[in-house]
Amino acid sequence: MDKIIVVGAGLSGATIARLFADSGKDVTVVDKRATIGGNAYDYVDKNGITVQPYGPHIFHTKEKEVFDFLSRFTEWNAYEHRVLANIKGKLVPVPFNLTSLFACFSKSKAERIYKILVDEVGLDKQVSILQLKEHENAEIREFADYVYNNIFYKYTKKQWKMKPEDLGEAVMSRVPVYVSYEDRYFTDAYQFMPKKGFTEMITNMLRHPHIRLKLNTDAEKIFSFADGKIYLEGKEFDGIVVYTGRVEEIFGYKFGALPYRTLKFKFKTLNRSSFQKAAVVNYTTSHKFTRVTEFTKFTCEKKDKTVIVKEYSKKCKKSDMPYYPIPTEGNCALYGQYKSEAAKYKKLYLLGRLADYKYINMDVAVLNAMKLFDKISEDNVFAEE
Ligand code: FAD
Ligand code: UDP
Repeated sequence: MDKIIVVGAGLSGATIARLFADSGKDVTVVDKRATIGGNAYDYVDKNGITVQPYGPHIFHTKEKEVFDFLSRFTEWNAYEHRVLANIKGKLVPVPFNLTSLFACFSKSKAERIYKILVDEVGLDKQVSILQLKEHENAEIREFADYVYNNIFYKYTKKQWKMKPEDLGEAVMSRVPVYVSYEDRYFTDAYQFMPKKGFTEMITNMLRHPHIRLKLNTDAEKIFSFADGKIYLEGKEFDGIVVYTGRVEEIFGYKFGALPYRTLKFKFKTLNRSSFQKAAVVNYTTSHKFTRVTEFTKFTCEKKDKTVIVKEYSKKCKKSDMPYYPIPTEGNCALYGQYKSEAAKYKKLYLLGRLADYKYINMDVAVLNAMKLFDKISEDNVFAEE
């Protein structure tokens, strides 16, 4: 093992490992899975269709630095993500926009709401549903109630077993209401899919003479942490550990498990070239699953078969994959206890969706890894090596 060990070969781990390697440091990356890429892992199935077994992943960012960094490892296909909501059988764009407004209300009612929204919120503005529900104008509140009940309430209950207002802006503002005809799910400047998939991109990130990759290697089995000292296979380890797994794992769950939501995926290959009108359809008023994704719609390839996946959300048990941290005040406070515990280890660094217990997108995972690399370099920990 090298003097720098990165636990996790997801986007966070792969980014920081690559930055260490580019700066001339030897680094070992371990992952307990047999595959790289963490939840962004994808593969090409026997019909030549790229499938994402851990759920739909679409790349988008406003950060040029992130886009430029990843562009070293992949070519891209331009892809702008559009999602439809199935409201009692009617398909309308989500984020709920002015097209959705005119599809859901009579012409005269929609024109009235349109005018009030433009006057009170402003044309081309985006606003969160929680803010809209509290608006001082009663007609806007009435409109917000419609959107809340038909787009957010049931989907959020299915996904989180919580009400939107209990989750708060951190989650709800991810999907605003658009006072415009904008119909893209994201408005970031850079919206692309890696031409040969995320696995290929992350493989290229990890392909470097200074990087050694050890898959099927569980950090829980090789590391132990006690009294401010890190032990690797029983011997004291004085190198750097960047850890991107669940933070509770390395401290024996001493303060209890941090709650997560997990997903059950039901995949189907269908003998037809198209299943639905958009890459993703959200079931916002009915069904037990939250959304249906059709992977062939992420690429430009025309196939005579298609693959869809339905997502069912449930409480995460210890043996399940932890997908979504639940960012309530209580959970964040519990996370704080682990963070303080980790701070006792000088060369242990937490990074990524699990170790930071943050609901972040891929671009933020990359950006945070870049920031941590800069911090470790500034801390001058290397000087001690
Ligand atoms: P992960 O991808 O979780 O990687 C962590 C790695 O650490 C895993 O490979 C794991 O096996 C390994 N590991 C954990 N514990 C140990 C251990 N003890 N020993 C060894 N290895 C260990 N982001 C977007 O930008 N766009 C999207 O469309 C999008 N869609 C998503 C859909 C779903 C269903 C989910 C769950 C997430 C989505 N994301 C999306 C978020 C994206 O997956 C994350 O931001 C990104 O993958 C975070 O990377 P990471 O490396 O921090 O974590
Ligand atoms: N959401 C909703 N209805 C929708 C889309 C999203 O209620 O049609 C809520 C839901 O709580 C969801 C959150 O907004 O978990 C964030 O949505 P996003 O699409 O960003 O979820 P992700 O792709 O990360 O699962």
